[in-house]
This record gives sequence, C-alpha cells and structure tokens, in this order.
Amino acid sequence: MALFRFGRKEEPREEPTSAEPQAEAAAKPGFLDRLKAGLAKTAKVLSTDVRDIFKREGRLVDEEFLEELRAALVKTDMGPAAAEAIVADVRERLRARVVDPDVVLDSIRTQLLARLKPAEAGIASAATGPTVILVTGVNGSGKTTSIAKLTRLFIRDGKRVVLGAGDTFRAAAVEQLAMWAGRLGAEIVRGEPGCDPASVAHRAVAKAVEGGFDVCIVDTAGRLQTQANLMQELGKIRRVIAKQVPDAPHETLLVIDATAGQNALSQAKGFREAAGCTGIVLAKLDGSARGGVIVPVAEQFGLPVKFVGVGESADDLEPFRPDEFLAALLEGSFAPAG
Ligand code: GDP
Repeated sequence: MALFRFGRKEEPREEPTSAEPQAEAAAKPGFLDRLKAGLAKTAKVLSTDVRDIFKREGRLVDEEFLEELRAALVKTDMGPAAAEAIVADVRERLRARVVDPDVVLDSIRTQLLARLKPAEAGIASAATGPTVILVTGVNGSGKTTSIAKLTRLFIRDGKRVVLGAGDTFRAAAVEQLAMWAGRLGAEIVRGEPGCDPASVAHRAVAKAVEGGFDVCIVDTAGRLQTQANLMQELGKIRRVIAKQVPDAPHETLLVIDATAGQNALSQAKGFREAAGCTGIVLAKLDGSARGGVIVPVAEQFGLPVKFVGVGESADDLEPFRPDEFLAALLEGSFAPAG
C-alpha cells in the first residue's frame, strides 16, 4: 500500500509569488503557525509553570523542585508515566545543580519525542483507484468537522474527493456534511434519513470508482449501540467497500475529542475495538490547556495518531508529526538567544 505525502504548499516561508502581494502572503498562517496557535493554551501553562519553579533564585534541583516539576507536567494531562520519565531524567542528569529552565524544557522535549515517535505513521493510500477512508467516533467527538478538514487537506493537495454521508440517523450531521462538501468543492453521496449506511457507502465508493476520484471518505454512525450491533454495521460497510476496491478501506480513523476526559476515552475504546481502526484523529487539541493528553491517548489506544485537529475551521487539521508538534508546543517556551 502506498502512503500519502501531504505537501506543505501553504508554508509562509516560501517566497511570495508576484500574484500574491507580500503583505497578504505574510498574513496567511502556515501549518506551524496554526499548530502553534492551536496548542497555545497548553504551551502557555507548560512554559509559565515550568518557569515559575525557577523564580526562587539559585534554585537547586532537589526533590522539592522535582515534585513541583511533576505537578506542572501533570497539569497538561500528559499522564503520570510521561511526567515520571521527565522527572527521572532531570533527577539523573541535573540533581543538586543550579540549572537553566531551558535545560529542563529540553528534557521535556526529548522525553516526549521518545514517547510520541512510535505514534507517528503515514496515511495509507491505494496503489491504484480511489483511496477509501472510513471515519468513526462517538457523537460530538468532532467527526463531521474532521471529515471536512480531511477533505480540505486532500483538495489542497490536488485530489478529487467524494464523501459518503453514512451517519444516516443524524439528519443534522448529513446536512452539515453536505454544507461542507459544497463549500470545499467535494462531491457527496447521501441517502434517505435512516437508510442502511452500507448502501450509502456502496454508492459513494461506486461513484469514486466510476468518476475516477482520488479519495472517498465515508462517515459512519456516531452512536454507540451495543458493541455487537456496531460491529455488525461496520462489518457490513467494510464488506460492501471491499467488494468494489479490494484493499479498501485503506484507513479506518477514530476521531477522539482531546477535551473529553477519561469517560469519553473509554467510550472511544468501544469504537476502536468494533471498527478495526488503523489510526486516530485527535480533535479539539486547541480547546483546553491539556494538550498533553496526546501522550496517554497514543499510548492507551495503541494506534498511531494520524492527524491532530487544532480549531474549528476547515484548515485546522494537520498530519501528526511529533517533532513539529513538539516544536509548536515548546518553541515559544525557550528564552530568546543572546
Ligand atoms: P460530531 O458530532 O462528532 O460529528 O462532531 P462535530 O464535527 O459536529 O463537532 C462537534 C463540535 O466540536 C462542533 O462545534 C465543532 O465545531 C467542534 N470541533 C470539532 N473539531 C474541533 C477542533 O479541532 N477544535 C475546536 N475548538 N472545536 C472543534
């Protein structure tokens, strides 16, 4: 199976073209700026709290210092294991020394990178024919918005996209998806309210094959009935898709709400098990100062994080790359050089 490589065409560092006045090009936020803006709340808490520990002059790295550091880290929801790894690293290397906050922030970056790196993976795509992506998740997780954002990402990459409005029990979700499709320039296949989602998936994939589309994104029910029921429904959708495109679906993405807390995370686990998910879309990372939750999500679900959602607009979705993510989270935290 091939992998998608999303370009970074909107990078602001590129020289502006003559058709694009310099001021306009500078005003258009690039992907790193959007990521930074989305993670600003978490970044602020992290850097302010870590710097606050150093307010007492000549502070030594001792157990009291390490406890305060642990408390600051835990506030971002990165989880006790990641916080402990950072504390242990600082203790081992810097104990009984007077250090600069940047040295501690650097340890945070190194330790988080080691934990997040395994959660990085490409986006699978079809070798020939349309790439089919199934999207699952609890109602309210940000599924519809994430489908719109994915659509935008593919269209920006020059791909033609057709959507399958498979959450047929939520008329409002179908309407919202249709609105996004119109706005973003994608086609949409929908059915009568309450119709069999598998029939919508079938028609959407058929349209993608016949119309030579590059990508078909199929929405699925966001209500959690019994797991057996959900499995049955998703199994049927998978079968009708695979009949038309043998390797499909190429990805089954689980949308998770980063602000939702433990309860919602355990609900999402039900979807993961029923749906045979291949990756996570972590939505609403901008919604709280607890963006560190990406660490336990990546570790608990045992699935790669494929995209992160950092806002409500169609542009606010980024393929997850741990080094970029940590640069956006920590860049502003370091003291300016000189
Ligand atoms: P669905 O029920 O799972 O389809 O969820 P929706 O896509 O309708 O999203 C629920 C709410 O979350 C809406 O108000 C969205 O605008 C909002 N939302 C979705 N993704 C994000 C995100 O990444 N950041 C923020 N701040 N809001 C989001």
